[in-house]
Amino acid sequence: MSELRPCHCGGNPKSEYGASEEYESWWFRCDGTDEVEACNFMSEDCSSYDEAVKAWNHRPIEDELRARIAELERGHLIPEAK
Ligand SMILES: [Zn+2]
Repeated sequence: MSELRPCHCGGNPKSEYGASEEYESWWFRCDGTDEVEACNFMSEDCSSYDEAVKAWNHRPIEDELRARIAELERGHLIPEAK
C-alpha cells in the first residue's frame, strides 16, 4: 500500500468513501492530529482507493517548492524574477 503524506497543515489524512447507484468514490479529508486542528482539506473524488491515494499525495506546488528549497540550500543562485 502506498504511504500517505501528511496534509499541508501537518494533519493526518482520513479516507472517506461514498457510493450511489451510479458510482463509488473515494477521497481523503484532513483529520488533523492531537496538536493540529483539522483544516478539512479534501482531495478530489476518485473511482478507486488507490487513485484517491495518488490524488492525495499529488502536490505539484509543494513538490516544486521543496525542490527549490533544496536547490537554494545547496547554495545555488536565485535567477532574477522578470
Ligand atoms: Zn490539513
